[in-house]
Amino acid sequence: MALEEVLNIKSNERRSVTVLGSTGSVGTSTIDLILRSPGRFSVDTLTGNSNVALLAEQAIQVNAKMAVIADETRYDDLKAALSGTNIYVSAGRNALIEAASRPSDWVMASIVGAAGLAPTLEAVRRGAVVGLANKECLVSAGEFFCREVAAANARLIPVDSEHSAIYQVFDFERPERVERIILTASGGPFRERTLDTLQDVTPAQAVAHPNWDMGAKISVDSATMMNKGLEFIEAYHLFPVNSEQIEILVHPQSVIHSMVEYVDSSVLAQLGTPDMRTPIAYALAWPDRMETPSSRLKLEDIQILTFEAPDPERFPAIRLTREALNIGGTAPTVLNAANEIAVELFLTEKLSFLNIAHVVEETMQQIPRSNLGSLDDVYAIDTEARRVAAEIAAKHTL
Ligand code: NDP
Ligand code: MG
Repeated sequence: MALEEVLNIKSNERRSVTVLGSTGSVGTSTIDLILRSPGRFSVDTLTGNSNVALLAEQAIQVNAKMAVIADETRYDDLKAALSGTNIYVSAGRNALIEAASRPSDWVMASIVGAAGLAPTLEAVRRGAVVGLANKECLVSAGEFFCREVAAANARLIPVDSEHSAIYQVFDFERPERVERIILTASGGPFRERTLDTLQDVTPAQAVAHPNWDMGAKISVDSATMMNKGLEFIEAYHLFPVNSEQIEILVHPQSVIHSMVEYVDSSVLAQLGTPDMRTPIAYALAWPDRMETPSSRLKLEDIQILTFEAPDPERFPAIRLTREALNIGGTAPTVLNAANEIAVELFLTEKLSFLNIAHVVEETMQQIPRSNLGSLDDVYAIDTEARRVAAEIAAKHTL
């Protein structure tokens, strides 16, 4: 039986789509692909946090049924921007969850940070196919989130480029034949900087990623390499391997998006130019494929691909994520929340770049491990970790 039949996906019908976080970097690329494939998708709901103008423009362009703004104070603005259309308007955190519960076939989870957890979980609980960009929800809710995916028979299609690569070459029928996952990392904008020059880097320098055009938070995470640490935890939850089987390899050209090594020493990789529309299209069309305008890979022009081990001294974030995963329970939740606070303070010039990792480490040391049984446990520990991280950061204030 074809996969489409097993999944009850009707290939001759439009796939209905909800985009959580449509106004962000991943969200706008998703809308771009939808607009380039007229007749293939129908859009149910789009959501944003505060960017009313872009949300309204997108909702009109794709003829969405509903537009939701998370910031309730922007409801009147959104209502005014969409007056004269029949797009239903709603606002607030509960409205985001309602948006995710509507019966679209496919949901893009591209809200940034732990704020994406509740709506993504709602889509999971109704058994949707979820394109997962929001790695923070897998880090902060880990095993609990995965249990919900299994219980609802939902399907996560990774959107993160590395995990999309692994997904495309991983033999899920014979996972015991996989020896290693090799997660590639660009190394970020500060790969060649010495430790003493990292103290003074500015938010603008950290956000200027050499290969990828992304939102501010993930760009800072790439500069500290916390992004690769979060992706290490993400890979652990998405693929049936143990944490020792996942290795990180710096590959500055971002051409090989990750690799899987098998017991016979074969290594399978997925390659492409660094354009998020490729992994987004893979998830959007899955199990089919769709065309993208991404520029084609010309290896004869690139000529040289290089690789190096990550430097644990300049980039301690990778060690911290390994520790958090080994400790388990609430430790990754604490790590994620502390990192979100520290990145926010760095972006507003209240914390230095190198102190981001210090705040995360000290917060992890201060909050003892406990078990995660429910979503309430996740929220309680997330709130506590944000409070402790802010206190610690205040001691390091610039
Ligand atoms: P952006 O910051 O560009 O966009 C974030 C989106 O989430 C926006 O739509 C924003 O709305 C919305 N949002 C922000 N805060 C809230 C909140 N509190 N409640 C509801 N909605 C909120 O992020 P990216 O697109 O870069 O990243 C999104 C996710 O995808 C992240 O988890 C990131 O790690 C992951 N990812 C991103 C990649 C990339 O290339 N950008 C690559 C791989 C993974 P508004 O615009 O109104 O503020
Ligand atoms: Mg990535």
